[in-house]
Amino acid sequence: DAELGRAAGLVREVPDFPEPGVLFRDIGPVLADRDAFRVVVDALGRSHTFDVVVGIEARGFLLGAAVAHAYGTGFVGLRKPGKLPAVADRVDYALEYGTAALELPAESLIAGQRALVVDDVLATGGTLAASRKLVERAGAEAVGASLVLELSPLDGRQAVSDWNVRTLFTT
Ligand code: IMP
Repeated sequence: DAELGRAAGLVREVPDFPEPGVLFRDIGPVLADRDAFRVVVDALGRSHTFDVVVGIEARGFLLGAAVAHAYGTGFVGLRKPGKLPAVADRVDYALEYGTAALELPAESLIAGQRALVVDDVLATGGTLAASRKLVERAGAEAVGASLVLELSPLDGRQAVSDWNVRTLFTT
């Protein structure tokens, strides 16, 4: 649709960030634009059935909380280590260089809840796979994931191939 196409055009490409040779995709201008923000948030929640949104730090918080509000659900944020006052669970995972971890807050997800994971960019898929693990270990149902942008050369989909992952834009 035309409005979504316009939103796609607002994604900014930043060369050599966070390190030389990396082309970083910045969704900041999409969030800053009233119409683009609304159309993207609506699209992220569409065609999934969910009771709670799980957003990934940090841009997944901005998108995910808006999706939760728009669709009338609660929101749970998965955080990087060292930020949460009380941790229910943690998953460590490999990055291209080094490792990362995500933590689930205590008293957040409820067993049986249908959770939609929301983030900005799908790169290698490691972050999504870790998020799914946290959701499922909490006894919730990981119904799928919605992201704004898929970096197709990195083939992140193979990390989550048996899952309902939707991306609004592909590059
Ligand atoms: P993955 O685990 O390799 O799929 O990386 C995805 C995570 O890294 C997401 O949480 C993204 O926010 C972040 N990320 C990776 N590449 C980019 C980018 O080009 N722009 C913004 N975020 C990115």
